[in-house]
Amino acid sequence: MAQTVVRKCRNPKCGKEFPSKTSRALYCSPDCNRQFHRDKHCTTLTFNIGNIRIQINDLTPGTDHAALQKSIIDSLPTELIEQAHMLELPEGAEPYHAVVNN
Ligand SMILES: [Zn+2]
Repeated sequence: MAQTVVRKCRNPKCGKEFPSKTSRALYCSPDCNRQFHRDKHCTTLTFNIGNIRIQINDLTPGTDHAALQKSIIDSLPTELIEQAHMLELPEGAEPYHAVVNN
């Protein structure tokens, strides 16, 4: 019987532990692998805080998107985050879009 090792997914957005049959597996799924490499070469980070969509352009390739997103959210006042979650949108509308150029 093949030995199974538990590894931690290398995609920082995931970080899930997964059983691996080979010692070389780095990601829990092919999707995670793809997402990680997309992020690595992608210079735009987009994420939602409630009904506000934040988009940051012109990032240095290789930027840790998950860490950047966390530090942005951590730097925002709690009231602002609460308000973003309470924002009402007209039915079917897209979130408000905030674009930041690095
Ligand atoms: Zn993963």
